Amino acid sequence: MATIGGGCLCGGVRFEVELPFSRANHCHCSFCRKHSGTFGLTQGRVPREQFRLVQGEELLRVFKPEGGTAVKAFCSVCGSSLFGAYWPEGEEISIRLGSLDGDPEIRPQYHSFVDSRAPWDELPEDGLPRYPGPPDADT
Ligand SMILES: [Zn+2]
Ligand SMILES: [Zn+2]
Repeated sequence: MATIGGGCLCGGVRFEVELPFSRANHCHCSFCRKHSGTFGLTQGRVPREQFRLVQGEELLRVFKPEGGTAVKAFCSVCGSSLFGAYWPEGEEISIRLGSLDGDPEIRPQYHSFVDSRAPWDELPEDGLPRYPGPPDADT
């Protein structure tokens, strides 16, 4: 089975993902914008059993925004946004594609929460569907 590695900027947190990803998207919601400091987050989903934390569990911090249902897990040393959704519980995990070391073999399929995007966020003409809110409300 094909696996792909990922981790944070300082290298303290490392994980492995077993392919394939089930879906991927760009989320422009206010939570993802604030968490990333830019347009939002680009992420792919896998069933929980396809994800394995290799090292650095003690470095992980989990933040759940008020009014949000999903969490953001990040490295407490370097601040890298790593994954979210329902960590550590839940049936799916949402992995920031930028934290991966190689090709996740999936490409973002849609934009979510485009009505919440930043004023300077000019959506690219990439032909992908754009949703004003969900389908991906739980990123
Ligand atoms: Zn780190
Ligand atoms: Zn979001």
